[in-house]
Amino acid sequence: MNDQTQLLRKLPKIDTVLKSINSDIITGIPIVIIKAAVRETLHAYRQAILAGDDIDIPAGNSAWTAILEAAILKKNSPNLQRILNGSGVVVHTNLGRSLLDRSTLESLQTAATHYTNLEFDLGTGKRGSRYALVEEIICDLTGAEAAIVVNNNAAAVLLALNTLSFNKETIVSRGQLVEIGGSFRIPDVMSRSGASLVEVGATNRTHLFDYENAIGDETALLLKVHTSNFRVIGFTSEVPAVDLAGLAEKHNILTMEDLGSGSLVDLSPWGLPKEPTVQEIVKAGVDVVTFSGDKLLGGPQAGIIVGRKEIVERIKKNPMNRALRIDKFTLASLESVLRKYYDFESVMDSVPTLRLLTLPPEQIRRTGQRILRRLGGIRKNAPLIQLVSTVSKVGGGAMPEHTLDSWALILDCKKHGASWFEKWFRSLPVPLVVRIENEKIVVDLRTILEEDIVDLITVLRSYLEEEKGD
Ligand SMILES: *Cc1c(COP(=O)(O)O)cnc(C)c1O
Repeated sequence: MNDQTQLLRKLPKIDTVLKSINSDIITGIPIVIIKAAVRETLHAYRQAILAGDDIDIPAGNSAWTAILEAAILKKNSPNLQRILNGSGVVVHTNLGRSLLDRSTLESLQTAATHYTNLEFDLGTGKRGSRYALVEEIICDLTGAEAAIVVNNNAAAVLLALNTLSFNKETIVSRGQLVEIGGSFRIPDVMSRSGASLVEVGATNRTHLFDYENAIGDETALLLKVHTSNFRVIGFTSEVPAVDLAGLAEKHNILTMEDLGSGSLVDLSPWGLPKEPTVQEIVKAGVDVVTFSGDKLLGGPQAGIIVGRKEIVERIKKNPMNRALRIDKFTLASLESVLRKYYDFESVMDSVPTLRLLTLPPEQIRRTGQRILRRLGGIRKNAPLIQLVSTVSKVGGGAMPEHTLDSWALILDCKKHGASWFEKWFRSLPVPLVVRIENEKIVVDLRTILEEDIVDLITVLRSYLEEEKGD
């Protein structure tokens, strides 16, 4: 008998292990899940053995039972989990971007558990438009004549280009042919939309005459793209939206701007960079503006298109629109978030993304002190856990070169090393996502929510035990 056969023989029989599993733990779990979890676990061991991997085979019944029970519980729990965001990145695409305020949950609940007037005009008793639920609000807030919302901003860009420039030319500056991430590249989206791309200018500088020289019989659109997650710095020049709009008007063509994040508030009074707001771009005379619902706006995933009425009407009628349509949950929560913007005084507090972006460092530091006190005080925990000033990021492709002053708990990982702990934190019942800097774990407290603190303390306690124990 060779080694492999010997190892394979150590694997228990499915029926035998099923009998030894603690029924208290698995009561109520569908038998399909239980059997599948056991089968998949044993299969993984078998594959590893056959592949010649260096693995430990559990010895004895109780070791097997523990492993299989864990596998069953894991298969029976939701795949989408709450996590603690210790990355400090406020609009983190991989962690779900923007958070909704609890007051928005009511709208979601209504949309989910009741029939609604989603596409039913209560005035006429006839079929209505789902876009009507938010159009007026978006117009009030942005100053635009009309608006439509779709699945996300990528869809908004695709749909607008397809409507306005199908089989026609769209002129774009070479400095704005960006890739946003998740394979969204302006040239690729343009070609899928049926618009043909005419590049003008140089990577760092594009002038009004570059656009003007490229305008011909086939030109439909001048497109401006927010460069989001990258910056060209130094000897640079971009054409302002207002000049582009003037040029387009002269030649009887249209302008479009993909704003990416698209904020409705100027965040510069809070120390963030001055970015043009959606209102400003609309005012500059750009015909169509697109932006995301879940970046700086702080709402659900959506793509918002605002612009001149007759253009938005054309976009609404595009058959492609049906495939990119926004769903009722998104609409319900988007309306709730947008309504918060009517009150400029309270919006910075009632939209979590804005609140987290503008948290004063002093407040973050006090949260850190509170956590340390709960762990027994600063002196008791030094040097294992220290409260240190750090910088966080906005994220979501917004303001890439800008950092926000913040405070972090730095965990000195002498015993196992930072990457061991980073991995371990990800495996906890409420996983914690962190940064590693200089071989230490950094838990940036800007993105730790008030309700996360109890769980974070539990994680830190187990870290301390792990680091102090032998
Ligand atoms: C983020 C972004 C997009 C894509 O928006 P999604 O809402 O993620 O689909 C498109 N263009 C720009 C400039 C962006 O920043």
